[in-house]
Amino acid sequence: MRTKGRFAPTPSGPLHEGSLQTAAASWISARRQNGQWWVRIDDLDAARCPPGATACILQQLEAYGLHWDGHPVYQTQHVERYRHAREVLARAGALYPCDCTRAERRARLQETPSAYDQHCWRHPHTPARTPAWRLILDDADLHWNDQLQGPQHATRAQLGDPIIWRQDDIPGYALACAVDESAMAITEVVRGDDLRQETAPQLQIARTLGHRPAKYHHVPLVMDASGRKMSKQNHAAPLPDDPSGMSAAMLRVLTRLGHTLPPMLHRAAPVLQLRCVLESLRAS
Ligand SMILES: [Zn+2]
Repeated sequence: MRTKGRFAPTPSGPLHEGSLQTAAASWISARRQNGQWWVRIDDLDAARCPPGATACILQQLEAYGLHWDGHPVYQTQHVERYRHAREVLARAGALYPCDCTRAERRARLQETPSAYDQHCWRHPHTPARTPAWRLILDDADLHWNDQLQGPQHATRAQLGDPIIWRQDDIPGYALACAVDESAMAITEVVRGDDLRQETAPQLQIARTLGHRPAKYHHVPLVMDASGRKMSKQNHAAPLPDDPSGMSAAMLRVLTRLGHTLPPMLHRAAPVLQLRCVLESLRAS
């Protein structure tokens, strides 16, 4: 089957060097296999997505030579698809409602790790308010192979029954992502290591829905000067948009991903730097 990869940013602001690294890793992996590379805009949480952010991200990808196939896919256009998947999971007995407030969870979890304690599963009751829906993780299913990091294992207690539908009626990450990977026929997911623990629920959802799961690769995160993950929450600087800044940013990204460029290309446009990496990968 032909490789189909994707990059799926949340349009919460412009891309930074950390997101460029994830995008480039995913693009290079798909293109070196002569595969397709699609862009999906994970815009379900409108409160996090300021106007104009999507246009800015697409313009940045274009400027950095990360050209995509087809038209960008918007998650907000597929909410009915996620709702249907939630119903299938509910009928399969894989979900339970949880009406715990954050304060209630915090009060119970003071001495234990932050994962959910399965309170509403242990004590079924009529929800006092609109509930969130949690996935009952099956311990037997929580083994998987990361293409980059090797065999992985987690327990239900560690992951704490992820929310696949939020109290505010927004689909959760694992559900929307698993449903989309299948609907888009994605064969490989290359993304940041902060999302590695999302893999187990996504694989379980895909299997329960009868979908063939993608292969997962989790690439190391880019840290800022104070050792924190480079992210929009940590106020990472947007990618440069001047030619020399762009070449330098792509050079750093490619170097961290283990690619070497000849010195004559250190100041070349990112599109030429990427082309050089692809040619040397295909030749090797
Ligand atoms: Zn609960």
